[in-house]
Amino acid sequence: MLKDLSLTCDADGCDQTLSDAECMLVYETPEGERRAYECSCGSVTITVVRAQR
Ligand SMILES: [Zn+2]
Repeated sequence: MLKDLSLTCDADGCDQTLSDAECMLVYETPEGERRAYECSCGSVTITVVRAQR
């Protein structure tokens, strides 16, 4: 199964694509890497990339 790399804003009615340019913060948690993306609409979308073991 292919991993879906496309990322869109979480805000209702806003399906703007988010890219590395919108990535404001990257940090590690025990569950994996988290990335915070700030959309131009002002909404912040958090993603979690599960750690590969
Ligand atoms: Zn948005």
